[in-house]
Amino acid sequence: MKREGQIKVDSENLFPIIKKWLYSDRDIFIRELVANACDAIKKYQSLCQMGEAENDNAAPRIDVTLDPEAKTITVSDNGIGMTEDEVEKYIAQIAFSGAQEFLDKYKDKTDADGGIIGHFGLGFYSSYMVAENVEIETLSYQKDSKPVHWESNGSHTYEIADGSRTEKGTSVILHISDDGKEFLSEYKMREILRKYCHFMPYEIFFNTIKKPDESAEKKDEAPSLPKPINNTSPLWLKAPKDCTTEEYEDFYRETFTDMNLPLFWIHLNVDYPFRLKGILYFPKQTDKLQVMPGEIKLFANQVYIADNIKEVVPEFLMLLKGVIDCPDLPLNVSRSFLQNDGEVAKISRHITKKVADKLTSVFNNERKSFESYWDDISPFIKFGCIKDEKFYDKIKDIILFKNLEGEYKTFAELPKQNDKVYYVSSTEVQGQYIKLFKDNGLDAVILEHNIDTHFVTFLEYKESGTKFVRIDSEVGEALKTSDADENKGSDDTLSNMFKDAIGKEKLTVKVENLRSDDTPAILTIDEYQRRMSDISRIYGNMFGKVDEAAETLIVNSSNSIVKKLPELDADKQKLLCRHIFDLALMSQRKLTAEEMEGFITRSVQVMGLI
Ligand code: ADP
Repeated sequence: MKREGQIKVDSENLFPIIKKWLYSDRDIFIRELVANACDAIKKYQSLCQMGEAENDNAAPRIDVTLDPEAKTITVSDNGIGMTEDEVEKYIAQIAFSGAQEFLDKYKDKTDADGGIIGHFGLGFYSSYMVAENVEIETLSYQKDSKPVHWESNGSHTYEIADGSRTEKGTSVILHISDDGKEFLSEYKMREILRKYCHFMPYEIFFNTIKKPDESAEKKDEAPSLPKPINNTSPLWLKAPKDCTTEEYEDFYRETFTDMNLPLFWIHLNVDYPFRLKGILYFPKQTDKLQVMPGEIKLFANQVYIADNIKEVVPEFLMLLKGVIDCPDLPLNVSRSFLQNDGEVAKISRHITKKVADKLTSVFNNERKSFESYWDDISPFIKFGCIKDEKFYDKIKDIILFKNLEGEYKTFAELPKQNDKVYYVSSTEVQGQYIKLFKDNGLDAVILEHNIDTHFVTFLEYKESGTKFVRIDSEVGEALKTSDADENKGSDDTLSNMFKDAIGKEKLTVKVENLRSDDTPAILTIDEYQRRMSDISRIYGNMFGKVDEAAETLIVNSSNSIVKKLPELDADKQKLLCRHIFDLALMSQRKLTAEEMEGFITRSVQVMGLI
């Protein structure tokens, strides 16, 4: 016997409005239905545990069946099921009133308000985003229950009748509408099941009903045992001490399509003040200079919510790849909810703290292995420091600096001269300066990544009193010898000789004993002005080019060629001075076409001196 009922909502036009709003993220209907199926199984299991239901010992399972011919998608579970009263109460009233609540709340908003819609789970009602008609076949676990059939086209009426189900549980049958027909594709369904249900806690089986002729083709094949499409016990749930490296790597590959292995990972396992589990991976960087965006998947009880929710995951951790499961987050997370929720901000801070703790413990207990992946993880950490000073304060003592010998030192362990730390931004280009430093028993640190330009400025601001000076900006200063003033007279002659030969008004020429015979002269550029020009290169020409005044030519008085210069005639002096300047320039930067032409001409003239 059919019974009709009124759905308890005021708006008769709920369906078209919600459908329109939800358009962008319609695929969440599958998450909502399969999550409901999981809940139904879980409820049944709890009742069995409490002794309130008799266990039928059937393996819990969810079946998603696609029938492209009949244009249906069915989500079936062997969970708790519903009695007729429960269908009335939970589906007709609660599910639909949830939709009404949604409508009231977001009446005046549009999708342009920041994607609130996409993250708002509408539960059962979301099936109407893709279906024109929905049927439910259900049988409650309770003894002597009768199966129930419910059906509604999403307007304000429904029909309820005796059902046909023989096993406890619920099947939700969606009759897909014309504009939802993309979901009748097997490929599409597999894709969205993977996206939303890949780690759900009960086995999910996916089946597509083929046309008779299609299945005939496969007749000869031996039937294989159906395999669940999901992983019901994702690694993040396991205790960190029981996980092996191989498991972490396999899980990484399974979850993120990345052929490279991750460098390092942090397994989060928090019980207090809220529950949170997850694994954060530091991915291998394919680009040495840039940091690529990462991917952090957020789950609530193994149900996928969304990627890269910046309210929950600290911004700098978005560069990592990982999973975070926070069961206390409601499934229907909307952006506006997250932004205004103090708890969520706490989660974010706590994740930062945990990451810092873990890094510190690895540093303290396994410093050698920490050093071995420092080069790869340091861009993430430095970015984190710049973005979040609290993070810096927590980990500043474990930030490492590689020196010219390839050893890793903390900031406190760094050799400093007059509170200056010398650094190399390119071991290739600054090779000559490195050699000079080494010959003089001096050290510098290597900071070659793009992020280091910003990081150095950040460190100077945080550690006031310390200056970071690039190795080619103050070599003279660094190598200065005590006899600097002794040869003042001859030094002046030399510097004038160079000034005249080069003919650059703004170039400063200094003569210094660099205690090495290898290099006749080097060119240095003022640290501050060079930084300005580096920044201007990154952000367009805001600060203009480096002023020539910032360049200083340091003539090495201990070099044998330089020593001989005063004995030569004026023409040779001029030629050699120019040539020495060219060489110094070349170890600073690439020559322009014009400079290169002059250099070649002079090289030939120099060779002519034989
Ligand atoms: P929510 O899941 O957020 O409570 P829904 O609209 O998805 O809201 O579902 C409303 C109610 O309908 C659920 O709380 C549950 O009691 C019932 N329900 C939905 N799907 C099932 C199912 N597969 N098996 C048993 N009960 C269900």
